[in-house]
Amino acid sequence: MKQFEREAIAANFGRILKIIEKVPDYKDLRPGIQETPMRFAKAVEHWTSGYNVSPADIIKLFEDGADGCDEMVIVRDIPFYSQCEHHFAPFFGTITIAYIPNKKILGLSKFSRIAEIFCRRLQVQERITNQIAEAFMDEAIGSLGVGVVVKARHMCCESRGIAKQGSFTITSALRGVMKEQPETRAEFMSLVNSLPPSL
Ligand SMILES: [Zn+2]
Repeated sequence: MKQFEREAIAANFGRILKIIEKVPDYKDLRPGIQETPMRFAKAVEHWTSGYNVSPADIIKLFEDGADGCDEMVIVRDIPFYSQCEHHFAPFFGTITIAYIPNKKILGLSKFSRIAEIFCRRLQVQERITNQIAEAFMDEAIGSLGVGVVVKARHMCCESRGIAKQGSFTITSALRGVMKEQPETRAEFMSLVNSLPPSL
C-alpha cells in the first residue's frame, strides 16, 4: 500500500470516528483515539496484504523425496484470520488441507502460506475454501486431488447476536481424485474427523 492510500484510509476513518464521538472536528477527538485512524489504516494494510500475491509466487516443489509419494499428505488445523467482506468484521478458525502429490511434493510450510494469501483479503469463507483447493489443482502444484476443510467463527454474526457465541461454520471443497474416488474421499473425511485436534 502506498503512503497516500494509507493516509486516505486514515482520513476517512477519522471522519467516521468524528461521527461516532459526536465532535465537530477530527482534531477534537479525545487523546485515546487521536492516533486510531492511522492505526486502523495500518491494520487494514495487513488484513488486505494478500491482494497482488499469487500462490505461484511462493510455491516450492521438491522432486527429491517424492519417490513413491502418491498417497495423501494432510496438514491439519492451520490457524487463520480473515475479514468478512460483508461487515468488515473478523472471522477466524482453522484450515485443513490434504492433497495427493503428482511426482513432486510441496514444502510443508507452503500450506499455511497459500492459505494466508487468500485469507488476507476481504473474503467469505466459501471463497477461501474454493480458492485454496483451486491453487492445489493449478499447474504450479498440479495435484492429483485435494480436499480442504475450513472451520470458522464469524464475529459479524456472534457479536451482533445473530449466531450463538462459539458456533462454527464448516465449509469444504474437494477436487480431482479426492472428489471422484469414493475410497479416497472416505479416507480424507475419516482423517479430518478422527485425528485429535492437537498433538
Ligand atoms: Zn459478515
